[in-house]
Amino acid sequence: MVDATNAVPRIELNDGTQIPQLGFGVYQIDPAETEQAVSTALEAGYRHVDTAAAYRNERQVGEVVRASDEQVYVTTKYMNPTEDHGYEDAKGAFQRSIDRLGLDHVDLYLIHFPLGAGEGYTASWRALTELRNTDGLRSIGVSNFTSTHLARAIDETDVTPAVNQVELHPYFQQAELRKDHAQRGIATEAWGPLGQGAVLEDPVLIEIAEAHGKTVAQVVIRWHLQLGTIVIPKSVTASRIRANFDVFDFELTTEQMRSIETLDRADGRNGPDPNTFVFPKEPIPET
Ligand code: NAD
Repeated sequence: MVDATNAVPRIELNDGTQIPQLGFGVYQIDPAETEQAVSTALEAGYRHVDTAAAYRNERQVGEVVRASDEQVYVTTKYMNPTEDHGYEDAKGAFQRSIDRLGLDHVDLYLIHFPLGAGEGYTASWRALTELRNTDGLRSIGVSNFTSTHLARAIDETDVTPAVNQVELHPYFQQAELRKDHAQRGIATEAWGPLGQGAVLEDPVLIEIAEAHGKTVAQVVIRWHLQLGTIVIPKSVTASRIRANFDVFDFELTTEQMRSIETLDRADGRNGPDPNTFVFPKEPIPET
């Protein structure tokens, strides 16, 4: 039997810290279901949870992490509430997130979207670079940044994000952005790693799964691990939470990795395009 917790590789970030490569995402998990889901994940062996202020379940994540004897890597995210917010707001928002989590530190704090036409996301990024020097925060990064957003944020602060968390799955592989990350020393983190369910009926993936006696979800998570991306699948179903962690007793061949590479599609994106994403009319309320 593989000791899966110890089998999870740790990715070294550009600030010298390490992040468990496989984590548990809690987007769209109802606060009432979050404690159960995160407890199941920790029992299964996950030691990394990805939440956000906008998910409105930081309190419940914090409850479970605080009650656990394990060291759990926690990521949360800053969402600019309107176009005008940035520097001061990000600092206040971080404090509110850490208060809701009830933890003495956050391992990774991300800017959720590159929002703001003017100072916008670069002002938020400047705030995060200052927050990182405080005791309550280990690493800082971004999410949904394109190469253009990355270049501007780095140029204006001289600080390179440790991580860029972006939509990434077999139908949307982001090869160019991954290359840019590699050149800049940014770790790629995949959100929607299962295509939010969209890739699970794919015939090529089904064939590979059958060859290994595994499920398609397990094959896709394995593909992420072998690609080198940080991967944070989500489920509220206990058997799936456990199955998504049971990916350390098989390996995809080079040929199988290549055939998954061919599944990339021009229209494979599920989520919003960071180039055209606009603010919600009403700020997303915090809990
Ligand atoms: P995902 O690709 O992890 O897919 C989740 C869905 O896949 C589940 O709702 C479930 O229906 C299905 N699923 C999961 N495991 C399965 C299994 N073993 N068998 C069959 N179906 C299964 O999508 P996601 O939740 O959007 O992304 C994962 C995490 O990434 C989120 O929870 C969140 O933490 C993060 N995320 C970040 C952003 C961002 O903008 N930064 C956006 C979306 C998600």
